[in-house]
Amino acid sequence: MFTELPEEFKKRMRAQLGADYTEFERSFDMPAVRAFSLNTAVISVEQFEACSEAAAELKYKKIPGMQHAYYYDDDQHIGRSAYHHAGMIYSQDPAAMLVAEGIKLPENARVLDLCAAPGGKSVQLAEKLAGNGGFLVSNEPDRARNSILCSNIERMGFKNAVVTCLYPEELANFYPAYFDAVLVDAPCSGEGMFRKYPESIGQWSISNIEHCALRQKDILRNAILMLKPGGMLIYSTCTYAPEEDEEIADYICEDLGFDAVSAPEIVAEYAAAVPLKKGLAYKFYPHVSKGEGQFMAYFRKPGELAKNETLGRNWLSGNKKKADKECCMLMEEAFDGMPDIDLDCVFRISDMFIYIDKGIDRLPEKGITKNGVCIGSIEKKRFTPHHDCFSAFGCSIKNRLELTPGSSELSAYLHGEELRLSLLENGIYSGSDKGFGAVMVLGVPIGGFKMAGGRIKNHYPKGLRNL
Ligand code: SAM
Repeated sequence: MFTELPEEFKKRMRAQLGADYTEFERSFDMPAVRAFSLNTAVISVEQFEACSEAAAELKYKKIPGMQHAYYYDDDQHIGRSAYHHAGMIYSQDPAAMLVAEGIKLPENARVLDLCAAPGGKSVQLAEKLAGNGGFLVSNEPDRARNSILCSNIERMGFKNAVVTCLYPEELANFYPAYFDAVLVDAPCSGEGMFRKYPESIGQWSISNIEHCALRQKDILRNAILMLKPGGMLIYSTCTYAPEEDEEIADYICEDLGFDAVSAPEIVAEYAAAVPLKKGLAYKFYPHVSKGEGQFMAYFRKPGELAKNETLGRNWLSGNKKKADKECCMLMEEAFDGMPDIDLDCVFRISDMFIYIDKGIDRLPEKGITKNGVCIGSIEKKRFTPHHDCFSAFGCSIKNRLELTPGSSELSAYLHGEELRLSLLENGIYSGSDKGFGAVMVLGVPIGGFKMAGGRIKNHYPKGLRNL
């Protein structure tokens, strides 16, 4: 593997690492490390760790010092596990996880993840915000990657996130000096991913590094327009190239006028401090800690951070109407009982019902790809719930089927099969004999079903099922 690395790259890394270079080189012979973080917005650490079936299936080990992150066995097909389907866990490189791990956010914080797909750091941020009344704008300009981002945010069941598909300069028009924190996990030359994705080595060149550095500056110039005075800017890449790391961090201080601030303690524990012209940044190397390459630096915009004053529902103009009597009647009929959803947050756009969390007080006029939670839509005069609704509001729906972890019924559901109430051995059904309901595991919703005469008709989306 290592011999395939470009000579020029090796020369640059030797210059960067000095005597440690040999160890760095050896790390390419070791397998990439896998890890996942737990979504504590839906399940507590205690409840998850008490589940012996999850421990046996995922064979995880807690990452020391991290609040709720775990290494797992590479051989496991984690994406097929019920815990993944339920949005309890998100698989991510442990070094990448570190970027957002120790960040502290103020109450009701507004946070922007500007380069967000596939969504690892957005998931961590939305989880933090779920507990503090804040909300996340998760943005990704690449259409294909944006749809993966939407599906990950949906799987994790977040109610407090909006996904947009805009270039930074477009988004900056909608959000001048608005966010308390902005994360720029920038597109980069990806040197830190060479071990995990050797196919990316062929794309390496000095001219690509230079191109990436120019694009990073461009993204940052727009990112800072959206940050409030006193707000936090987090800049990260998965490359070792100083042109995209330290030099960009220096650019943020010297040209954009920001101050580098100290990183959360956990970052300093795992990553090496790198001196900037003023302050420190951090690099995570695979020969020092378990994970791939990662660079991260933290900055503060000059000024005093003011508390957020809610702007009200400014975005209510246009085509969004408050949920009316007809909405409620249709939902009540579909679920055979009104779900416990705050109707003040439910809106109607044509035949679609959406939920927009209370904290969300500004939405762009274009480019939204996930507008809060899609509850469902009217089809042939009947209301049909959307998968997003089961993920986010499964616990609030009257009809619920709690399936036992590791059971044949659970795996049948994930395969798209219909279940029979009379044959159910490993599960508990609560609710009525008709209407839509949610399938749950460990009290966390996975997807939907429709109850009809003892038949539990599978509504788990075809594209998500285990084959
Ligand atoms: N933060 C993500 C995560 O944790 O899963 C990984 C982000 S990846 C390193 C960088 C992303 O930036 C890519 O998805 C890429 O499509 C996106 N990107 C490319 N050009 C961009 C631009 N001009 N502005 C914002 N994002 C861009």
